[in-house]
Amino acid sequence: MSTVAADVVVVGAGPAGIAAAVRATEAKRRVVVLDEAPNVGGQIWRHRSVGTLGADARTWIDRLSRTNAEVRRGVAVVDVIVGGEAGDITVVAERHLGGVDVIRTPALIIATGARERFVPFPGWTLPGVTGIGGAQALLKQGATFRGKRVVIAGTGPLILPVAASLTDAGARVVVVAEQAPFQAVRDFALSLLTHPETLLQAAIYRLAFLRTPYAMGTWVTSASGTDQLAGVAVANARTAWSLPCDLLCTGYGLVPNVDMARFVGCTTADGAVAVDERQATSVPGIFAAGEVTGIGGVGLAVAEGEIAGAATAGAARIDPSLARRRQALRVVARRMERAFALRQELRSLARDDTVICRCEDVGRAAIASFADSRQAKLYARAGMGACQGRVCGPALELLFGWQPGTVRSPLEPARLSTLSTAALAGAASSAADPSAGS
Ligand SMILES: Cc1cc2nc3c(=O)[nH]c(=O)nc-3n(C[C@H](O)[C@H](O)[C@H](O)COP(=O)(O)OP(=O)(O)OC[C@H]3O[C@@H](n4cnc5c(N)ncnc54)[C@H](O)[C@@H]3O)c2cc1C
Repeated sequence: MSTVAADVVVVGAGPAGIAAAVRATEAKRRVVVLDEAPNVGGQIWRHRSVGTLGADARTWIDRLSRTNAEVRRGVAVVDVIVGGEAGDITVVAERHLGGVDVIRTPALIIATGARERFVPFPGWTLPGVTGIGGAQALLKQGATFRGKRVVIAGTGPLILPVAASLTDAGARVVVVAEQAPFQAVRDFALSLLTHPETLLQAAIYRLAFLRTPYAMGTWVTSASGTDQLAGVAVANARTAWSLPCDLLCTGYGLVPNVDMARFVGCTTADGAVAVDERQATSVPGIFAAGEVTGIGGVGLAVAEGEIAGAATAGAARIDPSLARRRQALRVVARRMERAFALRQELRSLARDDTVICRCEDVGRAAIASFADSRQAKLYARAGMGACQGRVCGPALELLFGWQPGTVRSPLEPARLSTLSTAALAGAASSAADPSAGS
């Protein structure tokens, strides 16, 4: 076990965490950055070698490497103990290769990003059905898709790069089914005329799979096959049809990773951490930046990270150009959220025997009669498995309107030795401040 002190701890080395660490370190703060992934860069940058990344990504990763921020990779934060009014925060993290880090700090920046949203429908757990993040990861790991018949279904801009990459990798993308109606997609695209670089990027992706229909107002209603996906049923407002395919990639948007923030008591609104102008949360000493505060893309994550980093370093005011950039990108994010809101039909695709919690193999019928996610967990084990509700939690919210249950430590699966260290750290914090709690 190693115990250190830092002026600022950043959890998450994605675009937001990197920008936050750079800003705080450049303002002469001792910064420790923790990320459970083996590489820095978060969901979007970490899978690629720095040389193949775009200019912006390279600039930020270079800037981070030139600072003296201490970046600890392969380290999962499992507990955060908040004590005292002055922002006395203890972060407990488990090293994947063994050992526990305990870091005391007056300022914590939560930059834990977002995860994929999965919509349950009959057959969604069949081999051959994957989220777009899974498909991207397989591609980056060199999986072969040449000649495979692929259906891409979901919503929003994130399905476009997947369609482009799979086409580029030799897959036969049969259809890209965008659930949002034509008018919503058209209006969103027109609203991007004030952000021509984003529009251009979308057009480049679309050109890469130009021979494939981009069917708006269309969604997958079920996947079929015995041991392996063999085909999908697709519908729009007028008709329904079937398509044979080897791979189905779904992407129904992202969900902010708010568990850590909720655990320490930060206020959330609409599923994201609520922050003020300085990216400060409702808990003194704790800031949040990036997609944990709402889904808005890389540019917004970086802007928020920069503001949070500067705020923890005691900046008296927010850089006005950064505040303007953040505001403009938040407007785009809100438009995107409205345009690609999930349609009602997706909430009723799951049948009685459709698995909702795939870790514990719990079907819809086993939980439909409960009042909330807590009951479903206690009596039917929905959300009790390895992913701890990260996949089925948002699905339960979509299907039944249930809010997520209480978050408890450990925040990630942890070794027993880590738990005992966390307990000791908690006891030490309470001894120093009798009002402390975690
Ligand atoms: C599956 C997926 C696919 C995407 N594909 C694209 C794409 O193709 N194009 C595009 O423009 N955008 C894409 N995005 C969106 C893009 O990744 C985000 O806009 C951007 O990465 C947000 O940056 P962030 O710093 O807020 O979060 P992230 O980049 O998600 O970084 C958060 C980091 O926090 C770390 N973390 C979380 N919890 C802990 C913990 N307890 N302990 C330690 N570390 C922790 C994670 O390992 C992660 O590295 C995708 C997002 C997802 C989830």
